[in-house]
Amino acid sequence: MSLEHACARVVLKPKRARPFFGRHPWVLDSAILRVDGEPADGAVVDLTTHDGLFVARGLWNAASKIRVRLYAFDAATRLDASLWRSRLEAAVALRRLLGLDDRGGACRLVNSEGDDLSGLIVDRYGDWLAVQVTALAMASRLEELCDLLDSIVAPRGILLRGAERGLSKLEGLHLPDRLVRGSAPDGPVFVTEHGLRFGIDLTEGQKTGFYLDQRDNRQAAARHARGRRVLDMFCYSGGFSLACAVQGQAASVLAVDSSSKATALAKANAELNGAATITVETADAFKKLDALKVAGERFGMVVLDPPKFARSRASLEEAMRAYHRINRLAVDLLDPNGILVTNSCSGAVARDDFLMMLSGVAQRSGRSLQLLEVRGAAADHPVSVSCLDGEYLKCIIARVA
Ligand code: SAH
Repeated sequence: MSLEHACARVVLKPKRARPFFGRHPWVLDSAILRVDGEPADGAVVDLTTHDGLFVARGLWNAASKIRVRLYAFDAATRLDASLWRSRLEAAVALRRLLGLDDRGGACRLVNSEGDDLSGLIVDRYGDWLAVQVTALAMASRLEELCDLLDSIVAPRGILLRGAERGLSKLEGLHLPDRLVRGSAPDGPVFVTEHGLRFGIDLTEGQKTGFYLDQRDNRQAAARHARGRRVLDMFCYSGGFSLACAVQGQAASVLAVDSSSKATALAKANAELNGAATITVETADAFKKLDALKVAGERFGMVVLDPPKFARSRASLEEAMRAYHRINRLAVDLLDPNGILVTNSCSGAVARDDFLMMLSGVAQRSGRSLQLLEVRGAAADHPVSVSCLDGEYLKCIIARVA
């Protein structure tokens, strides 16, 4: 049986069709009345209202709470190679429009729901592509998608990187890292971001190797860094540190991460750019922030870019406490009129909640916080207005009186 041909019908409960008429791409188990037919995981299904009206076409996965991912909202569109091709071409064309098609650079080429390709992430690092699949729908079409990417982008190689462990489990996916097409780079891939050089480890690095979403936020932070002593907490491979040191002309930068692999990358990248004012240290953020405070150290700018504290809405309260704690410590380390660059990449934390947390920090510390910039991910991480779940990154730049 072909995976392309819609044979089964997924019938929605009464009054549950509205989000899908609104083009939301995830159909949860709880919205489904019944399934007519026996779709295999990964097969095409049509979504209908309880009284049989066509709503959308998508791909089935009985193993996931997201039972159907929707890819077309009109009955005439087939979920076949020509649709995937046109979606991939549109995604690549957007990055060209954004000026991110330079082969010496890096960008996110495909951003899942933001590019109408729910479950597929493709990052380009120079001549290599790193693919992350977060849905069985896309995993079952991996070969086809890689053929298309090969023909549209002509990379030297395509590597498959495992998605976050939690996510893979939710989808019932077991995809070990592997080379899917072409050749693997024989060391780090060097790319240029806003004039800075970064070596990127495509096989071992975090995410697909680099935090591309922070590209423009690093520049925004750097614009406030001149002459300041900067603390870059959770530095990973040194993105904020380098922008602040080299472009921002910070007086000095202390870059800290708990992972020694990360700090090794940050050191190498600092050397690569001749940034002698950066000092890199391997330490736990909470302990280091405490220690700096106790030692009476002060900074003109603190950057906080922690990993996802809230993995789900259930762990939200605990996460908010952790955000409060590091932000409070950061504020305590800031000179009068210092700059706080504080980030959250937890999708479960809404921007307003994050701002409320900062308001709590202002109250407790007795310092006033002036919001200078409220930012999100770079434009190569587009978000579909029909699926705001894709909006996860918050980057707030505030002046602390
Ligand atoms: N600012 C970085 C991205 C940071 S990602 C950039 O621009 O590229 C989050 C980082 O936090 C990871 O590198 C991870 O190793 C680090 N991390 C996680 N827990 C930590 C902790 N308790 N203390 C310090 N660093 C931590």
